[in-house]
Amino acid sequence: MIQLYQPLNFLGWVYREIKQAITDIEAMFRLLAEEVEVEDKPDALALAVAGGVVRFEDVRFSYEPERRILKGISFEVPAGKTVAIVGPSGAGKSTISRLLFRFYDVSSGRITIDGQDVRDVTQKSLRDAIGMVPQDTVLFNDTIFYNIRYGRWDASQEEIEAAASMAQIDGFIRSLPKGYDTEVGERGLKLSGGEKQRVAIARTILKAPPILILDEATSALDSYTEQEIQSALESVSRGRTTLVIAHRLSTIIGADEIIVLAAGEVVERGTHGELLDRNGLYAGMWARQREADQARELLARTGEDA
Ligand code: ADP
Ligand code: MG
Repeated sequence: MIQLYQPLNFLGWVYREIKQAITDIEAMFRLLAEEVEVEDKPDALALAVAGGVVRFEDVRFSYEPERRILKGISFEVPAGKTVAIVGPSGAGKSTISRLLFRFYDVSSGRITIDGQDVRDVTQKSLRDAIGMVPQDTVLFNDTIFYNIRYGRWDASQEEIEAAASMAQIDGFIRSLPKGYDTEVGERGLKLSGGEKQRVAIARTILKAPPILILDEATSALDSYTEQEIQSALESVSRGRTTLVIAHRLSTIIGADEIIVLAAGEVVERGTHGELLDRNGLYAGMWARQREADQARELLARTGEDA
């Protein structure tokens, strides 16, 4: 029986590995299909990052010719500073981050990093310089260790643990029976949205890129998880040029500039205090979120009493 079982077991393993390889290949082709949108110029040079100043100059963009998405966007993120983009869903916020990462090229205007047009540099050097923490992190079907180390292949065990610790996920990982060797993803342990995001933050801390794009989670994370993620994001963005797409305005009070985007146009800009004084769209969004937060707090407290 054993004699028969072992080859069958082996075949099962082969089957799973092949299935996984096919899944990986499919994912790769989907990525490649998206990436044919842009190509390196024959004479493209590597991006040389000095301070990491990001500039959008009158950027216009459409995914399809007949529908304009960005209608002349200009802003600058000074080296090491944080600019937040807020606005209703569909305004074009994520499009801005995709253009900076050069998933697409602008229709007109330009985007520069330390004066270099992103279309003139190699995509590899551009993407090496930028760390992106997306809203929905997809982890590799591998161990947590692998998923964090992906940020920098030559990182040591200590560096990986330090990054996890900064991302407020080290304690959780240690509480698992297999610790850092725990398999995650489709075949392994299913992590919650907040846990996946913190793994992505740890990866980005390890990568230590000069420029960061953060797409904050919208989904109703409990407030404890949200605070954990918030402090993790703060530690990673310190001293780095950061573009943050914020859904919860309470997380960007300290941003150097807040840009309010609506239907592809900048409708207001300034610091949190300046925007409240204006009493416009931002002030309205702020008031609504405060009310919602207070209602939630009240509900939570009533729940405790009951
Ligand atoms: P936000 O992040 O502010 O919610 P997005 O930048 O994701 O908005 O999208 C802006 C607009 O562009 C939306 O109307 C969306 O439907 C459209 N859009 C986004 N991605 C694509 C795409 N790949 N092809 C066509 N339209 C798109
Ligand atoms: Mg978005």
